[in-house]
Formats: sequence, C-alpha cells, structure tokens
Amino acid sequence: MSTETTPDRRKLEDQIRQLNERIAELERTKDQMEAQLSEAKTMAEMPTAVTTAPELEHTLGRLVKKIAMILQAEKCVFMLHDTESGELVARKPALGLNDEQIHLLRVRATQGISGEVFRDSKPLIVDDAASDDRTVKENVVILGIRSLLTVPLVMEKRDEQERVVEKRTIGVLHVFNKRFGASFSEEDVRLLSILARQAAAVIANAQLYIEIAEKKQELEATLRSLLAGVLVVGINGRLSLVNAAAQEMLGINSSKSPGMPFREAVPNEKVCALIRTALSEQRDVAEEIDVVSPTERVLQAQTAMVRSENGESMGVVAIFNDITEIRNVDRMKTAFVSTVSHELRTPLTSIKGFISTLLSDTEGFFDDSARLEFYQIIDQECDRLTRLISDLLNVSRIESGRALEINWKPVDVPDIVTKVINAQKSYTDRHEFPIQFPDGFPRIMADQDKFDQILTNLLSNAVKYSPRGGQVAVRGEVVEGEMIQVSIMDQGIGIPADKLTKVFERFERIDNRDTREAGGTGIGLYLVKHLVEAHGGSIWVESDLGKGSTFIFKLPIQPPRELTEQ
Ligand code: ADP
Repeated sequence: MSTETTPDRRKLEDQIRQLNERIAELERTKDQMEAQLSEAKTMAEMPTAVTTAPELEHTLGRLVKKIAMILQAEKCVFMLHDTESGELVARKPALGLNDEQIHLLRVRATQGISGEVFRDSKPLIVDDAASDDRTVKENVVILGIRSLLTVPLVMEKRDEQERVVEKRTIGVLHVFNKRFGASFSEEDVRLLSILARQAAAVIANAQLYIEIAEKKQELEATLRSLLAGVLVVGINGRLSLVNAAAQEMLGINSSKSPGMPFREAVPNEKVCALIRTALSEQRDVAEEIDVVSPTERVLQAQTAMVRSENGESMGVVAIFNDITEIRNVDRMKTAFVSTVSHELRTPLTSIKGFISTLLSDTEGFFDDSARLEFYQIIDQECDRLTRLISDLLNVSRIESGRALEINWKPVDVPDIVTKVINAQKSYTDRHEFPIQFPDGFPRIMADQDKFDQILTNLLSNAVKYSPRGGQVAVRGEVVEGEMIQVSIMDQGIGIPADKLTKVFERFERIDNRDTREAGGTGIGLYLVKHLVEAHGGSIWVESDLGKGSTFIFKLPIQPPRELTEQ
C-alpha cells in the first residue's frame, strides 16, 4: 500500500480541518452566548427596590449600557406609555441618543414599530428600517436607524405562589443598529425579552413607589402648612401623625410623639377624652375646648373616623382650629354694642331732659342766662352724638375694607389745635391747655375734617382720662425736615406698659374703675390710628402709669404721591 497521500485523502483532511475550525468557532460563539446569558441572568437578579426618581434614572442608565453591550447594539432606548397623552414617550437615559433626540422620540401608541410592539405585545426585528413600511421614517432619519429589535415592556404582578395575577404592557424597549453590520437574531430576541421583563418590573415598581412617595410628601407638606392642628390616632391608640400646628397648640413634644400612646403624648385631658370617645364609640365628635397650656386658647375640635376601603375603622383624625381670636372679637362686639347703646343714650337723655325742662317752663322760671346755658349743653351733647355716629361710620368703612377718603387741602395746624381746644374747654373747668408751636410752623397737606377728628379724639381722651384735671399740653415741631410731630400730654391715669400698643386696636378698653366711670366705646384710638396712617403718618403713646400719657403723631408735610394719586 502506498504511503503517498492521494488527492482524495487530502481533500478529506481539508474538510476535517475546516469542520474542526467551524466546531471551534461554534464553541466560541456558544461560550460567548453563555457569558451573555449569565450576564443577563445576573441583571435579572438585579434588586427591584428602586424607590426614587434619581435611583430609577441611575438604574436605567446602567441597564441601557449593559443591554447595548450584550446585544451588540449601537443604541438603546426605553419608550414608556403615557396614559394621559396616549403616547409612547422615550425616557432618559438612553444610549447613543442625545437629549434632543430623546425629546423628539414620541409616537402615538398605535404608530410605527413601537406602536405595533406595544399593541401586540410581541417582539419585532427589522433588518432595514429605511425600507420597511412599518417604521416612522422621520424617526429613522433623525435617529440614524439601520436595523432594530423592539420588545414589549411587560409588567407582571405575581402572588405568593408566583402565579401571574396581572399583566400589563407599560412600553417598549428598542435596540438599534446591530454592530459589525450583522442582523438581530432570534437569540437576541430571547435575551432582550428576559432583560425587558426585568426592566419592566423595576420601572413599574419604581413608578409606583415614586408616585406614592410624591403623594405622601404632598400630603405631609399640606398637613405641615395647615394652620389647623391635625392629630391622627391609630385604632391601637397610638399617634401616627401630629402636625406642627397641633404640637404647638397642644404642647406635644414633637420628637417623642409618633408611635406613642396618645394618652402619654397629649398633655391635655379634654383632648384625650375627646379622642377616647371618638375611638370607643366609633363616631365623629365636635367640641369647643379651652386650653390653658402652653398658652390660653379656645380650640374648636372635630374628629372623624378613618376607614379603610372596606369600611373597617383604622383610627381617628382630630382637627383643631384656634378660635381664640373669634371668641375674643365676639366678646368685644357684645361689649361694644352695649357700650355704644350706653354712649348714645347718655347725650340723648341729657338733650331730652333739658328740652323737656325748657318746654315745661311756661311761667318763665329760668332766666335768659340759665336758658342759654341749657342751649349750650344741648348743643354740646348734639356734637357728641354727631362725633360718635361719625366715628362709627368711619369704623364700619375701615372694617369693610374701604379706604378712608382724604380731601387733601393746606391745613394750618396751630389754628385747628386752638379750635379743638376751645371746644374741649366747654366740657371742663379742671384742665389747662398750654400750646407750644414754633414760629413759622408749616402748613401741611391734609384733610381738615379728619385732622380735626384726630385732635378731638386725642384731646377728649386726655381730658376724659385725667379726671382730677391738670394740664393737657399740645406741642408741635418739625422733625426730619419733612414731617410735623404733634404731642398731646396729659397728667391723667396713664396706661400700663403692656397695653401701649393694644389701645389702638378696635374695641380695646383698659378695664378699671376710672375708665368705667369715664365711659367710651374703644373705637376712638383705632380710628385715630387709621386716620393718621391714611395721611402717611404714624402714631404711638408713651405713658407713666398713674402720672399721665403722651400721644405723639407724625404726619408728612407733603403727602406721599401714592396716597394722593389713589
Ligand atoms: P374709649 O372710647 O374707650 O375712650 P379709645 O379707643 O379712645 O376708646 O381708647 C381706648 C382705651 O385707651 C380707653 O378705653 C382707655 O382705657 C385708654 N386711653 C385712651 N386715651 C387715654 C389717655 N389719654 N390716658 C389713659 N388711658 C387712655
């Protein structure tokens, strides 16, 4: 037998070598595939607990990079279904697409390849995107797509036994342009489908978390900013929520309260009793509660049962509104109505008395001078009534939010001071009224009647609240070059330090024997303050209790333009 290699044998050896090479190549491809598959599996085991928007963005960033690497694709992008607009919208981050391209990539959920994959929930491979009639050509051009593989993003919800209980397509996942001019294969479809399933779970979970977290934050911010106090107590009697207003109103220690039994956390017995009733009797309770600590207030408390969807009771929410101010104003208003009635009746009684006396004096018992004196008293009492009614009208104007109309005219201040003092002199013989104004005191632009009203109120108070008499001194000066300052100083009962600003509030009266005897409505200074401010000025009081008070006001010589232009 010849050892010579025949051409047939060589041919055979060649074929065996080629086959061996092919086997080695297939072996390598298999290894590569296995590596990719194991990587895909690792990714499949990726944690699904992405709970914030930045975390989701980060995870998706990693995903698109890996997917592109595994699938040997140039570009990778997620498109999610926007239920509101009915569109599939590209989501950042994507691989191989710039921000503008991502922004432009949105199609109707029925349009193009994305629409088809989304609707049928089946993967699609397109080898030549430019010639395929299903692709949206505009996007093909903008994104430079040659070949593509698109799989649906299907979110599956499973129960404890891993049975699928809900299946929903939430978007699609694209990879574009297989590298090295190759086409996407069925193996790629299998791989991308595994990755897409995992990605869909991450996205769906994260979206749910983010939505819930945002809603929770929104709710917490709303609760925090509420002026009303809010307490939520679980059915187990433990506090689950206390907003800042409730902590402040009820003196609850914020750091310790959540999770604590409400009886220990809430230091107010009446509030505890209210919650107890609501919890034990399972009904809504409303009550007005006087709280003394940390500060004295009146709270309007209202509870409501918190129930689950199936009507099961989960706890109680209690809402507290601070109605101290409302109650105070109510009290003041009641007092005001009775003082005003009294203040109106006093001059009327006097007027009626003198007129009856004069009418019944048919025999001429009273001489002319006595009659003149009666007429003067009637005249003064009429003035008093007019003033009171004008004050009341002005207050109601202020209260209804209407501006006090100022009739700007040049006003000679010392002139009006003299006139008002003369009027006051007829009410008292116990007081002296020294006046001090520098020569050449400037005329100011003001409303003459309102300026008269300011002075009349301040001077009549000075007289009224210095029952033992003394001096009521009026002094004027020019300050800061462009303002006049007028002070009215009395030697009367004075004002306690803590009431120096309060006296300018409506219905505010200092309650003592002297003021009760003097009578009054508590609106004079409130009105004066508004009148002064309507002129662009300011007013304040200094006082030495038991020795006297000085009311000082400043007015601009020329009113600020924004006031005159109104
Ligand atoms: P009223 O009608 O009570 O006088 P006002 O608003 O004019 O109302 O004054 C409010 C309160 O301020 C008065 O009730 C009084 O207690 C106090 N008050 C006002 N002026 C003086 C003053 N010159 N001296 C002491 N107390 C004063």
